[in-house]
Amino acid sequence: MHMRNATTVACLGSMLLLAPAPAGDLRGFSAESAKAEREWEAKFRAIPSPDSLREDMRRLSARPHHVGSPYDKDNAEWLLAKFKSFGLDAQIETFDVLFPTPKERVVELVAPTKFVAKLQEPPVPGDPTSSQQAEQLPTYNAYSIDGDVTAPLVYVNYGVPADYERLERLGVSVKGAIVIARYFGSWRGIKPKVAAEHGAIGCIIYSDPREDGFTRGDVYPQGPWRPRDGVQRGSVMDMPLYPGDPLTPGVGATKDAKRLPIGEATTITKIPVLPISYGDAQPLLAALRGPVAPAEWRGGLGITYRVGPGPAKVHLRVKSDWSLKTLYDVIARIPGAAAPNEWVIRGNHHDAWVNGAEDPISGLVPLLEEARAYGQLLKQGWKPRRTIVYAAWDGEEPALLGSTEWAEAHADELAAKAVAYLNSDTNNRGYLDMAGSHSLEAFINDVARDIEDPETKLTVWKRAQLRAIADATTADARQEARQRADLRIDALGSGSDFTPFLQHVGVATLNLGYGGEGGGGIYHSIYDDFKWFTTFDDTSFVYGRALAQTVGTAVMRLADADVLPYQFAGLAETVGRYVKEVEKLAKDSQDEIRERNRELDEGVFPATADPRDPSLPPARQELPPYLNFAPLDNAADALTRAAERYEKAFTRAQANGGVALAQPAAQALNTTLLQSERAFVNAVGLPRRPWYRHQIYAPGFYTGYGVKTLPGVREGIEQKNWAEADRQIGVAAQAITAAAGVIAQAADKLDKLAP
Ligand SMILES: [Zn+2]
Repeated sequence: MHMRNATTVACLGSMLLLAPAPAGDLRGFSAESAKAEREWEAKFRAIPSPDSLREDMRRLSARPHHVGSPYDKDNAEWLLAKFKSFGLDAQIETFDVLFPTPKERVVELVAPTKFVAKLQEPPVPGDPTSSQQAEQLPTYNAYSIDGDVTAPLVYVNYGVPADYERLERLGVSVKGAIVIARYFGSWRGIKPKVAAEHGAIGCIIYSDPREDGFTRGDVYPQGPWRPRDGVQRGSVMDMPLYPGDPLTPGVGATKDAKRLPIGEATTITKIPVLPISYGDAQPLLAALRGPVAPAEWRGGLGITYRVGPGPAKVHLRVKSDWSLKTLYDVIARIPGAAAPNEWVIRGNHHDAWVNGAEDPISGLVPLLEEARAYGQLLKQGWKPRRTIVYAAWDGEEPALLGSTEWAEAHADELAAKAVAYLNSDTNNRGYLDMAGSHSLEAFINDVARDIEDPETKLTVWKRAQLRAIADATTADARQEARQRADLRIDALGSGSDFTPFLQHVGVATLNLGYGGEGGGGIYHSIYDDFKWFTTFDDTSFVYGRALAQTVGTAVMRLADADVLPYQFAGLAETVGRYVKEVEKLAKDSQDEIRERNRELDEGVFPATADPRDPSLPPARQELPPYLNFAPLDNAADALTRAAERYEKAFTRAQANGGVALAQPAAQALNTTLLQSERAFVNAVGLPRRPWYRHQIYAPGFYTGYGVKTLPGVREGIEQKNWAEADRQIGVAAQAITAAAGVIAQAADKLDKLAP
């Protein structure tokens, strides 16, 4: 049903997209410049081709290309040659980083019976790249400390803090044990971190078929889901502390950079970790006794899930080669004609765990098509106002290495010049997923209104809106999806290369990709390859083309606008919502603790426990104090007022053809606008993790990828650190007030342009 004839679609698409569009309706453009922009954008969107996408993917995923492998460097050089062949100015920037690769890996059951885990993914007949074993990185979790431990096994579900609270009530401790956790439920690096905090001495992570194996559908090669011996590789570095090279936090890992001794790198795990398949996990889990696992903890294997500890006893051994490896970031530039010192940056990583057709090549090949199309437009006379920087990052998979080291090495320049960073990673079929800085919410909604969905021929915006209506679970949410001018965009936590730009430097950021249809279980395995992708995913590459059209249009529009098209009303509304959320969180936490203490007094827990099932009452907690949220409320108010002032001034300037916007004086306005996102970062950063400086968005300390908005305040409350929450209210309020100040200044400048 989703297979289409690519040539037919291409012709229809270009006719549709080249039709004259209304001018003067583009935010930040004068009527005249909007007309020119519309014409260039329509030309651009006709260029990306499914055939090119397919051939580029075939080439880039032909061999394993992890950091330090021969084909990783080969791909970088090929990408460099491509950018140059498009007529772009390009080079490779290298960094030397700590990237461990496995030398010894053992997981074995030593009691009550003996079983040795295979730790090996077999090739699949008919899938040529799955047999490239000599070049494949073995299954492992990067940045696991070396170790050799033997101990009783405990099953900890997803291994997040709430699971350990549950274990405590079951009377089970993991002290001195090896834990086995399933993938999902948190970013994988959280699992060994929380296990070590609770006294475990080793950690095994396995893929349960309930999440991405046979419970979901047919397994590869019959279907797209994870086969019995498929293993999810991945990093377990403590990235919520800081991403990038563990030895050079905060600075680029150049040849002569000052490096920490390995023993002082705080982001390496405290206990050894290895990932395994469900084929290898089943005998381990089946050998556990002790309490039956709570209902929500049970997976798809045909066994009674039990928690332990023991009698299953496991031997776990990991040893890595800890040498430095070289990263190859490929950077291409189109110099801006009028404002060369304002940069629009677009990136996607090129390294993979193995062949990585889906992750990351499905997102990288659209980037390449955008660059190819820009090469053609430049020859036809297109002159972007601002500088465009295209980046193919190395080393994203281990720890966002290439993007982080580059952003750290160029931090001062980025702070002065960066307008926006646009990221993509894997791309699939379905709906446009828009996430990022809320100053770009209205902007990216506008772009989405100009892109055609290849399956339905609706705009991708309309399709996303209709899905929001279908997915809404309350009448209010449905009404908002129908009536709000723009679809809300999600805030960003982590999990891809946008993190250093947004959360360390404070660059307004968007992360874009299509998805939500299909699915599969080949993530970070040898089966994520060309054969799998072209059999089960975006098989006609029309969503690859849609991504190129979407991100490419956004980059052009940001690069060409007379006045930077940030919009602050949506930002202020969203920040106001976050403030209300943390206020409610504090109140709910108080109510919850008060109620639990009351039930402890009443004797509820022993009275309702089955004496034949172990169940302990929860610990009594101190009642939280009331927090003073007034500084945050006032700051959110100031932001709203500044946003309203700016919007009024902007509307006045844009009426009348927006002539005022095109004046040379608009340059001074842009210089101020450029600093609006930067105002949200402070020099001190978040508690215990100073690398993360953005006061509105951060990855959660205990979620890893999942975002925490107003992170200092929210995590203070969640971790019941009330004094810290109180201090962080002041810190966040200061950052929001600073941003309001920048926006008010921009409004002043606009008033002078168009009095
Ligand atoms: Zn990726």
